[in-house]
Amino acid sequence: SSFSNYQLSSELLKAISMLNYNSPTRVQQEVIPAVLEKKDIIVKSQTGSGKTASFAIPICELVDWEENKPQALVIVPTRELAIQVKEDIFNIGRFKRVKVPAIYGKAPFYMQEKELKQKSHVVVGTPGRIIDHIGRGTFDTSKIKYLVIDEADEMLTMGFIEDLKIIISSIPIDRVTMLLSATMPKDIETLCEQYMKNPIHVEI
Ligand code: AMP
Repeated sequence: SSFSNYQLSSELLKAISMLNYNSPTRVQQEVIPAVLEKKDIIVKSQTGSGKTASFAIPICELVDWEENKPQALVIVPTRELAIQVKEDIFNIGRFKRVKVPAIYGKAPFYMQEKELKQKSHVVVGTPGRIIDHIGRGTFDTSKIKYLVIDEADEMLTMGFIEDLKIIISSIPIDRVTMLLSATMPKDIETLCEQYMKNPIHVEI
């Protein structure tokens, strides 16, 4: 299998080759084509499977560079993961010049607000700070078309399930939703049933 089998722009293929990703991992083989076809997807897989690039690649491909408001939101449990995922998306989207602000707690609000005011395509953030920005009107979710819930089981363990529901409810219903989790506890399955449309199930 090869990345050139997918409908990806030369900007994306160049970035992927610069990262030395020679062929898609198993999770990428499942997720990339599904998201390019705008299908909802539930992915049960561990860190190290290449799961970040599995959503970063199709999202970077699908975002419209001209649109100034955020088009994708990636929700992650921790600040460390937010920084890591932001960097991965930046690297994959670098030749398309995809803008990726990260918003997380215990960091000044003002700098994040400033970044969100400028062109931003993909926002990566932790639940509490995402809610703060939505509440203060500094994060406009009206143009979000792609929603990623990463490490969903971790977010459940950390007590973020109600926050997740608040955030998901503020995202337009006409969207593609991707949920990734190492395990599938009942509460996460319920969340999927409530907020996803005929999702594809992938287990790696
Ligand atoms: P993740 O599961 O997202 O934490 O990714 C694990 C590691 O695999 C990261 O260091 C990625 O940079 C790397 N990676 C992701 N996709 C590929 C690929 N197709 N080929 C080689 N390495 C990859």
